[in-house]
Amino acid sequence: MLRMEAVRKSFGGSVVLRDVDLEVAPHTVTALIGASGSGKSTLLRCANLLEEIDDGAIWLDDEEITDPRADQDAVRRRIGVVFQAYNLFPHMTVLENITLAPRRVHGTGRAEAEARARELLDRLGLGAKAGEYPDRLSGGQQQRAAIVRALAVRPRLLLLDEVTAALDPELVGEVLNVVRDLKEDGMTMVLATHEMGFARDVADQVCFLDGGVVLERGTAEEVFGEPREERTRRFLRRIV
Ligand code: ADP
Ligand code: MG
Repeated sequence: MLRMEAVRKSFGGSVVLRDVDLEVAPHTVTALIGASGSGKSTLLRCANLLEEIDDGAIWLDDEEITDPRADQDAVRRRIGVVFQAYNLFPHMTVLENITLAPRRVHGTGRAEAEARARELLDRLGLGAKAGEYPDRLSGGQQQRAAIVRALAVRPRLLLLDEVTAALDPELVGEVLNVVRDLKEDGMTMVLATHEMGFARDVADQVCFLDGGVVLERGTAEEVFGEPREERTRRFLRRIV
C-alpha cells in the first residue's frame, strides 16, 4: 500500500533520512523504533508529504505521490495522521473537531458527517463526549478523539507518531487498545513508538532506525527476539 524507495531527506546540511526503503502491505502494522532523533517522525512526515523529500520516491497504492504532478491534497486525504499531542482544536467541541475535515475538505453533509463521527466515538468509547471541549477530556480521551478525527475521512492508511508519548502512564493502555482494535478491523498503520512491548505485540513489521538509516527490519519476533545488529541489541537493552 505504501512504498518508499531510497528516500533521502536533509535539513540544512544534515542528512536525516538516507536511502530509506519501506514497504507496507495492506492491513498490516509497521512499527518504527529507534532513539530520539533517528528519523522516525521525519519518515512519517515524508510519507504524508508534510516534508518534501530530496531524493527517492514514495508510492501510495499505485500512485507515485512524490511525482511533482501528484495531487498532494488528494494524497493527504487518503492518509490519516495523529501526532503525540495537540491534535484537537481547543475552541471546537469534539464533534466539531471530528466533522471539520469531512465537511470542509470532503464536502460531506453535516448529518452524514455527524452520524459517522458519533458511530466512531461510540466505538472508541467516547460517545458521551461529543459535545465537550477538548480541555474537559483526559489526555487519553483526547488522543482517542484525535484518532477518531483521523478516521473520520476513511483514510487508506493511518500514521501514528508516538501517540502515547505525552500521556500519563495510566492512560497509555486505553490508546494502545484502540490501535489494537483498529488492527483487528484491518486498518493499515505505520506507527513510531517507544512502547516496545506494544510494538512487539501489535506489529507485523518492525523497522529499527539508527541515524536516518533503517538498520534492521523484520517481524516483531525477529527484531525483538533475535536482533542481528549490535546497535539494535544495544538499543533494546537500554529501552526495554
Ligand atoms: P525522531 O522522531 O526519531 O525522534 P526526527 O525525525 O524528529 O526523529 O528527527 C531526526 C533528525 O532530524 C533530528 O536530528 C532532528 O533534529 C532533525 N530535524 C527534524 N525536523 C527538523 C526540521 N524541521 N529542521 C531541522 N532539523 C530537523
Ligand atoms: Mg519523533
